[in-house]
Amino acid sequence: MELLKTTNLTMQFGGLVAVNKVSFNLNRAENIGIIGPNGSGKTTFFNLLTGIYEPTGGDIIFEGKKINGSRPDYNYNLGIARTFQNGRLFWKLNVLENVMMGLHTKQKSFLWDAVFRTKKERQEEKEAVESAREILGFFSKKLLEQQDKLASDLSYADRRRLEICRALVSKPKLLILDEPSAGMDPNETLELVEDIKKIRKIEEDISIIVIEHDMGLIEGLADRVICFSSGDKIAEGSFNEVSKDKEVIRAYLGE
Ligand code: ADP
Repeated sequence: MELLKTTNLTMQFGGLVAVNKVSFNLNRAENIGIIGPNGSGKTTFFNLLTGIYEPTGGDIIFEGKKINGSRPDYNYNLGIARTFQNGRLFWKLNVLENVMMGLHTKQKSFLWDAVFRTKKERQEEKEAVESAREILGFFSKKLLEQQDKLASDLSYADRRRLEICRALVSKPKLLILDEPSAGMDPNETLELVEDIKKIRKIEEDISIIVIEHDMGLIEGLADRVICFSSGDKIAEGSFNEVSKDKEVIRAYLGE
């Protein structure tokens, strides 16, 4: 059942301990919400899981295998996909092409060298187009209808959705979402929660970790919530338990 585990995971930048001995486990088909005030170590924790940083202490175990310090593309091929807080789309590519880019480390670079493509590469491209359309149609019909539009011409909320589609096309075992509703209005956030909930209908075993400041999104999505403060994991439990935890309230109010 267990997909991911960290034991005493630590990241120190010079004298600053951004993540301090965090032990945590994640089961298959489980959604975890990570909350905590700004600067509490949430993003650093994500960067450790995805291989952007090599931990200065502790271990990361994915499907029983230690992945400390392995590169992001290696982790991606293992099945760990993420979105970024500030969005990282290819503005001059259209919606469909952006989703296909999510397959680029798994397949050959089908968007380039059109003239010199082999038959196998043409077949791969056809399959990539099909996978991308399938994900778009499933996750957001509205996005599929805009498949030929440049990413730069999408509404803000659709850009954020497109990022999730690009991560999903690789069929990850673990999807990591970094503040997916940042910048969205309350209605857009509600729609997004429903879209994210649908993911389990096509990928029933997928596990999701989400960092969010929007407590409505966390409450709507997370089976379990973890709160960070100054690099420490200070609370873990259901949304109700964590939101009533005295240490959590203190961390947010800065008392
Ligand atoms: P959060 O995502 O909860 O806002 P971060 O993980 O971004 O918190 O940051 C945790 C702490 O680590 C902060 O004090 C931040 O300034 C520091 N930090 C993050 N990344 C680096 C880095 N690359 N170099 C030095 N300090 C960093």
